[in-house]
Amino acid sequence: QGVRVSTWTEHERTVVDAVPDGLFIGGSWRPAASGARFPVEDPALARELRTVADADASDARAAAEAAGAAQESWAATAPRERSEILRRAYELILERQGDLALLMTLEMGKPLAEAKGEVAYAAEFFRWFAEEAVRVDGGYQTSPDGKDRFVVMRRPVGPVLLITPWNFPLAMGTRKIGPAVAAGCTMVVKPAEQTPLSLLALAGILREAGLPDGVLNVLTTSRPGEVVEPLLRGGIIRKLSFTGSTAVGRLLIEQSAEHVLRVSLELGGNAPFIVCQDADLDQAVEGALAAKMRNMGEACTAANRMYVHESVAGAFAERLAARMGTLTVGRGTEPGVDVGPLIDEAGRGKVDELVEDAVGRGAKTLVGGEHAPGDGYFYRPTVLTGVPADAAMLHQEIFGPVAPVLTFADEDEAVAAANDTPYGLVSYVYTQNLQRAFRISERLDTGMVGLNKGVVSNPAAPFGGVKQSGLGREGGSVGIDEFLETRYLAMPLS
Ligand code: NAD
Repeated sequence: QGVRVSTWTEHERTVVDAVPDGLFIGGSWRPAASGARFPVEDPALARELRTVADADASDARAAAEAAGAAQESWAATAPRERSEILRRAYELILERQGDLALLMTLEMGKPLAEAKGEVAYAAEFFRWFAEEAVRVDGGYQTSPDGKDRFVVMRRPVGPVLLITPWNFPLAMGTRKIGPAVAAGCTMVVKPAEQTPLSLLALAGILREAGLPDGVLNVLTTSRPGEVVEPLLRGGIIRKLSFTGSTAVGRLLIEQSAEHVLRVSLELGGNAPFIVCQDADLDQAVEGALAAKMRNMGEACTAANRMYVHESVAGAFAERLAARMGTLTVGRGTEPGVDVGPLIDEAGRGKVDELVEDAVGRGAKTLVGGEHAPGDGYFYRPTVLTGVPADAAMLHQEIFGPVAPVLTFADEDEAVAAANDTPYGLVSYVYTQNLQRAFRISERLDTGMVGLNKGVVSNPAAPFGGVKQSGLGREGGSVGIDEFLETRYLAMPLS
């Protein structure tokens, strides 16, 4: 494996130090009112990478006021102007793809190649919404009695609060900021405390692209509860768009109730991955690998439960284990690494608990099932068979590189097991039979289905879940609707 390096290169330090310092409020960078700062850790080294400003409720008020003050003039800008800002930001992100990817790998852990992919994916949301910004339309209606006319128009919702998770630090930001800019909403963004640097770099890019002062405000904080609640209850914010866990999403709905805010939520998942007897097994194994191992399994769309027809389950599990066993675990910045560290000590501890629970209940480990060496939070790619129905990992997000392979005898059993969860984000189906593909897909209670495809996300598609996986859709032509109100003007013709 060569010599393990336990510090950062000069170039890595330069990229981290170049990230703008402070909270971004009203178009300028400033320290937290209290002067407090908090550390951001590199999960591959378990060492402090940098510190950032630690906002509290008074900073939150300042950010909301800046967003509130900018809303009217921002809503009045020409759609083409907003579109061109997004387009310039899209180009700047791609110009800096290498540095942005490196920054993301350092604060989050994912392998550099995956980080580059995320940067390109994140930029695509800006290109997509640059195109949507100029397509917002309304209508002209005649009342049923013929006497009145209605002019129907779309207006920005108003200042929005955008809260993002740590697992896709840049893409979860652009997926919300893109439509908010396109629709003419001002915003306060609160990135996850584990990964604020990517979002701060993005704020710098949007400023360079010509975003007016006050339209985007960024609050980094180690105490999200103290900052978010006053924003939701403060009377300025009109909408919440949240991506994160179901537990926090539920709490934020309650806090949003006071001012009856519009709410969109992208929450947790527990994706079933169904492999039928007629699936192309090589294709299914590669799909499973993508659906499970992308982002070290730390994705809301990660395949959490593999249901394989009993006639092919043994072969599938063996091939998957063989492929998982060839993956290289290590620092995401090192060449040839396929699997980076998990996000932090707590994240890896949860994976430990889930695997111990399953093994304690009789599951068999085909590969992995333990930490991988290194200073950071490394975990070996793992395949388990014989996981009993009451194992905790089948009922909650594993959020790690662990694949339980389960079996089914017929379609009804597969569908019933797949739907037996409060989550409903995405499911995957592998089969070569067209009728079976549609039959099963229609019965799966999820917002998205990957058919012979292990990665479904695309800025042009309406991403989102049903049941406790969320409310609303991000991306696609409907993505901007979440940031628009429909309003009409009524008048008699004579
Ligand atoms: P989390 O809910 O702990 O944190 C998400 C965000 O909420 C962070 O910005 C965090 O600072 C903030 N937060 C935490 N506690 C808060 C509080 N009391 N008040 C206000 N804000 C608070 O989730 P996480 O661990 O960062 O992210 C992983 C979760 O996100 C998983 O459940 C995953 O499935 C989900 N996720 C969903 C999608 C999707 O599109 N459906 C995408 C990515 C991640």
